[in-house]
Amino acid sequence: MPTIKQELDRRQLLYSLLMPVMNLYVPGLDKGKGLYFLFVKSETRTPGGLFARPVLTSYYKSDHFKTRPYDPYNVYTSPNEAILCADSFQSMYTQMLCGLLERQQVLRVGAVFASGLLRAIRFLQLHWRELSDDIESGMLNQEITDPSVKGCMVKILKPDPELAEFVRMECSKENWEGIVTRIWPNTKYLDVIVTGAMAQYIPTLDYYSGGLPLACTMYASSECYFGLNLNPMCKPSEVCYTIMPNMAYFEFLPHEPAGFTHDSTPKLVDLADVELGKEYELVITTFAGLYRYRVGDILRVTGFHNSAPQFHFVRRKNVLLSIDSDKTDEAELQKAVENASQLLREFNTSVVEYTSYADTKTIPGHYVIYWELLVKDSANSPRDKALNQCCLAMEECLNSVYRQGRVADHSIGPLEIRVVKNGTFEELMDYAISRGASINQYKVPRCVNFNPIMELLDSRVVSKHFSPALPYWTPERRR
Ligand code: AMP
Repeated sequence: MPTIKQELDRRQLLYSLLMPVMNLYVPGLDKGKGLYFLFVKSETRTPGGLFARPVLTSYYKSDHFKTRPYDPYNVYTSPNEAILCADSFQSMYTQMLCGLLERQQVLRVGAVFASGLLRAIRFLQLHWRELSDDIESGMLNQEITDPSVKGCMVKILKPDPELAEFVRMECSKENWEGIVTRIWPNTKYLDVIVTGAMAQYIPTLDYYSGGLPLACTMYASSECYFGLNLNPMCKPSEVCYTIMPNMAYFEFLPHEPAGFTHDSTPKLVDLADVELGKEYELVITTFAGLYRYRVGDILRVTGFHNSAPQFHFVRRKNVLLSIDSDKTDEAELQKAVENASQLLREFNTSVVEYTSYADTKTIPGHYVIYWELLVKDSANSPRDKALNQCCLAMEECLNSVYRQGRVADHSIGPLEIRVVKNGTFEELMDYAISRGASINQYKVPRCVNFNPIMELLDSRVVSKHFSPALPYWTPERRR
């Protein structure tokens, strides 16, 4: 996405409105700190020499962030050095350590997306022993080697055996329900986005936080920042975002319900002319040079703030699977299945049907692909090893954001193939028809998340296979 320097000022403007809005609903946030898990990712250069990096990495590396003036409403437990450390383990470790050291001061806990916060909780589950040792001794874990992180931690980390004991006691308990409020007892809310694809994480967040309010404060993208939630303490299902008209030029493409096609191209509607209750696809013209660019988000108008329309995020167009910041569409999934099924040729076997599911019951979540196979020679059917390789072959084919999540950020677990019994997809069709689908127009859903369907599929599983290695990914070369 092209971007320009002035864009940072616009992003800053949106950020600067978040706490004044929050302050209307939650007083006293200037009396403590925020524990936010924020990360930079690796960057590369285009052949022309420009930086290519994720939008938040640009923001955290900018002076707007690094040399921000002191603001009592925006004090973080994480030092800049920890946020700016490109090694995800060292960055997370230090941010968690600082959060533990200041546990009484923490008033809000957050990350950008829900998946990031759950990853931090999982990290604590895996590393509380080392973290408690550091707190007890006042000596930083040897695995933290980044000089600027070490330099800043020398000033922060002091022996605190009592705190170390407390962390050990809480984290060694089998039951982690409400762990967030046990460790950070003054937390008033979780600041994470749980709208759109992230809604799948709400029950898990409720479990770990003991039901703390979930605040979705803003709506933004790499292309452009869009707007904010003026009622951030509302229920996740009621979140609506008010688009700020000064962020870009916004237009809206009326979105037709599935199966309904227009004869003529629908006309774009201006921000001022959208109608209550209607769904639109967001189209932006940005200061950085995108012209009538379709972001891929479907929004529904839920009301107005004065005359500024407010939108519920309905869904992303064409995205089947998403665990973290990855977005895999139908075409990519199809290509990956085709690629992997090449490996079955030597077994005279083919994939007759498939569907998929983003399994977020474990942290990190992972993609599950259900396969129905046609094995022509049962004496030479593919064994576990071949099917594991198919998992990896699929991963190799998925986009670079997915592979970065697997390799560098560890935000996505190994892809899983579940082979189902022959005839399972026919049963799936029977089920859909029994619920009113038309036989003529029935299409195998390429992604499922409806419980009875998942139960049906899972009850027909004959074997499960996982990717045995990491797919290829490098920050320098993007494929
Ligand atoms: P990226 O450019 O990778 O950061 O992704 C931007 C996309 O993330 C947006 O176009 C939305 O689809 C999604 N997104 C960002 N903020 C929100 C939000 N508050 N609620 C739901 N989806 C969001």
